[in-house]
Amino acid sequence: MNEVDYIIVGCGLAGIALCEILSEHDKTFVVFDNGSQQSSSVAAGMYNPVILKRFTPVWRAEEQLKLVPSFYKKLEEKLHKTFDYRFPLKRRFTSIEEQNQWFTAADKPRLAPFMDLELTINDNPNVDAPHGFGTVLHTGRVYTEALISTYQKYLREKGLLMNDSFKYDQLEVKLDGLSYQSYKAQQIVFAEGYGLKHNPFFNYLPLSGNKGEVLTVRIKGLGLKEPIKSGVFVIPLGDDLYRVGATYNNHDKLKDTTEQGKAELLDKLNSFIRLPVEVIDHRTGIRPTVKDRRPLVGQHPKYKQLYVLNGFGSRGVMIAPYATKQLFNSIESNQPLEDELDIKRFENLVQEDFLSNLGS
Ligand SMILES: Cc1cc2nc3c(=O)[nH]c(=O)nc-3n(C[C@H](O)[C@H](O)[C@H](O)COP(=O)(O)OP(=O)(O)OC[C@H]3O[C@@H](n4cnc5c(N)ncnc54)[C@H](O)[C@@H]3O)c2cc1C
Repeated sequence: MNEVDYIIVGCGLAGIALCEILSEHDKTFVVFDNGSQQSSSVAAGMYNPVILKRFTPVWRAEEQLKLVPSFYKKLEEKLHKTFDYRFPLKRRFTSIEEQNQWFTAADKPRLAPFMDLELTINDNPNVDAPHGFGTVLHTGRVYTEALISTYQKYLREKGLLMNDSFKYDQLEVKLDGLSYQSYKAQQIVFAEGYGLKHNPFFNYLPLSGNKGEVLTVRIKGLGLKEPIKSGVFVIPLGDDLYRVGATYNNHDKLKDTTEQGKAELLDKLNSFIRLPVEVIDHRTGIRPTVKDRRPLVGQHPKYKQLYVLNGFGSRGVMIAPYATKQLFNSIESNQPLEDELDIKRFENLVQEDFLSNLGS
């Protein structure tokens, strides 16, 4: 038997954030990942503290942003690669009314640090933006695809990542810990993203899932230096390449790309870009979304050694360090979780017969 402190299921942003905090505290772990979910890899990777539709603050924006720079910097130092690119984000205004809404919001104390009070005039003839842009500050983009693949390679080389499906029926929960195949552990944390739907211990939680599609396109001569947000994000990748995203679909949970998704993205892009667009790549992922838009973090209602770290929705880059720190402190130091992210808020969904079916 191999003895570890933690078993982790899932090696997306959530699983990686957990590996990092465990390593910092000299805890031992092994990770299982079967590559079934792609949300973290296909993510546009943007982090920004303002909801750009309504000009309202993101939940716990200040607290989350405080942890972002050091979290990604440590990963960059460990893996000798750059992942975190900081730049202001331009929000294209579609009307004078929107400009006014921006300046009203930018006066509010919680938003003032993040919303520039100067209107940016458009100087790019290939972009249609007669009403100019508002600039969001303290924003950036994490190159998540490179982060996930590099981190997984790092773990694999250390013998800490098993590229295998976790078989829930092989988990044995005991009074003094748990065992799974050749591993004994003190606790297990499930960080499977939308894969949680197959987890018999936690699938009572209301994870709804939202499919997102993104394109990589070539637009010769566009010359954008900073990302623009209008109906879609346009993020410069260099060499005339841009990431364009994303769609939001609550109904379709299939993993394949759709012509409808591609057409929606291209229509929105063509409404403000005046140059021909060549599609290079088209990908999808299912965001682990929750109806109340808060993460799903905490301990199983029956088996105290089982935990969940999920529900990062459309903002995993910012939420991952914040939610993971809370989970770690609750397990290791008995610090209470914030009510808004604790899965105890869904205890009314746990059926007694569901618990007895799990055995004892
Ligand atoms: C198109 C799109 C664009 C997005 N853009 C942004 C953005 O700009 N900014 C932002 O912050 N967020 C964005 N997101 C959201 C972000 O991707 C998610 O919040 C985040 O990636 C969720 O991370 P996770 O680790 O919880 O889940 P996932 O990334 O889904 O990782 C779960 C992992 O668990 C593994 N797994 C599942 N079940 C099992 C099992 N039984 N056995 C073993 N392994 C298993 C999967 O293979 C996967 O690797 C976007 C998402 C999409 C789809």
